[in-house]
Amino acid sequence: MYGGDEITITPGMQRYIDRNNLYLGRRDRYIRDVVKKWKFDTIAVHGLYSVEDAIEDYQGAIIEPIFMSSSQAFRDSDEMAAALGYLIPSWCYSRIANPSTYYYEWTLALLEGYGYEGETSACSTSSGMAAIMTAVQPFLVHVETSVHEPRNFLATAQCYGGTFQQFNVRLQQERGVECRWIEDPTNLDEWAAKIDQNTRFLYGELPSNPGLGFFDIRRVAELAHAHSLPLVCDSTVATPALLRPICHGADIVVQSTTKSLTSSGFGICGAIIARKNLVASIPNDELKRDFALYVKYLPNRDYGPNLHPMQAIVSLNDMRTLRSKMDLMSRSTMKVARFLEQHPQVEQVEYLGLPSHPRHELASRYMWLVDAEHDEQYGKPVNRYGHLMSFCVRGGHEAARKAFDGLQRIWRATDLGRIKSVATIPAISTHQQQGEAGRKLAGIPPNLIRLCVGAEHPDDIIADLDQALGRASKK
Ligand SMILES: *Cc1c(COP(=O)(O)O)cnc(C)c1O
Repeated sequence: MYGGDEITITPGMQRYIDRNNLYLGRRDRYIRDVVKKWKFDTIAVHGLYSVEDAIEDYQGAIIEPIFMSSSQAFRDSDEMAAALGYLIPSWCYSRIANPSTYYYEWTLALLEGYGYEGETSACSTSSGMAAIMTAVQPFLVHVETSVHEPRNFLATAQCYGGTFQQFNVRLQQERGVECRWIEDPTNLDEWAAKIDQNTRFLYGELPSNPGLGFFDIRRVAELAHAHSLPLVCDSTVATPALLRPICHGADIVVQSTTKSLTSSGFGICGAIIARKNLVASIPNDELKRDFALYVKYLPNRDYGPNLHPMQAIVSLNDMRTLRSKMDLMSRSTMKVARFLEQHPQVEQVEYLGLPSHPRHELASRYMWLVDAEHDEQYGKPVNRYGHLMSFCVRGGHEAARKAFDGLQRIWRATDLGRIKSVATIPAISTHQQQGEAGRKLAGIPPNLIRLCVGAEHPDDIIADLDQALGRASKK
């Protein structure tokens, strides 16, 4: 298993393997019989960290401990050989595995897999960008002996600026892997026409940041699978509280946990979450069987984009209240969007929750507040569209800058997903590097302000926007 020489298993190693198999059996039963039966909020609060774990291994600590340790000591050579041969789970070295990142990974795997019948697993990464790299690189290996083997992939042109750079500059210009941009991801024919025998995966961001692009996940996944290709989704903007692409057929989900999943803003972090037994055209059974474990044990061991244990627990702590925060912030964003829609200084408002939005209907098929039907307050399924929106200020780029500079409560920062409202002008910040042509492709006009509404009272945010837009109208 997992490369290297054939390992000779000594009787001592076998004892460790047997003991660990008992533990893994108990863990699988606990997931299947207990955790998978919980509601979303309970999983978010507890994940896989149980009273038994705490008492047996962690001195009863009710909060997952932060293990700031580079490595683990072994009882003897048999345990070391079994651990380093990946025959038993271990914390051998924190670049590969650590108890704190373990609990973070399991919570994410379970939240993204909520409502999915199959199994999911996760691999933590040091950032969302590292998660994207982790998710796509394994599919780009050379299969033939020729290093000139043509390889391509499809990706939605409306995507995060960093993703555009990673695909366009790092993969396409520097590595010669062709990125075929999908300009209208709602058009299934465009996806279909761009696939050929050298395509390795399909990649889609939804809702996209900042353009709120969306596509029919189920149909794009079916198309990908018909060509034995995996579908990778960046679901950062939605979070698993509102959308779980794996439930709709996606193979891998990328999360910049930095954003709404960790709304406090305490640091940078990411993860990939994959379903087991995913679809891929490359001949690698271990990769297909358990993608997250595969990247954790091999490529990421060798590249090292791992998450720090301190960050893992800080972020995990934020995720416990994800559902109620996403509900609150989505409702406030709806109120702000409605206000801006009728404001004379605003040319256009983009929010998936507005019925006027061209992708409102499509998004409404996929974006639901998880467990709303089990919530006393609602008692039925309700759509929620997240807290990212954008609007164009009348009067062009200069007017947009004036309004932006007039904001008093809303923070000017290239950030989103925060518990505090934050705004940016993508053309001069997140999407500055890709140039005007790239921005045009991604649909980013120069007078666009991206706004991510936090958990303040929406009336205070509306008042701030109103006074700032008032300044923009003055000569
Ligand atoms: C921010 C962001 C990323 C990158 O994540 P980092 O944690 O900043 O590396 C990727 N995708 C989307 C949609 C993002 O908003």
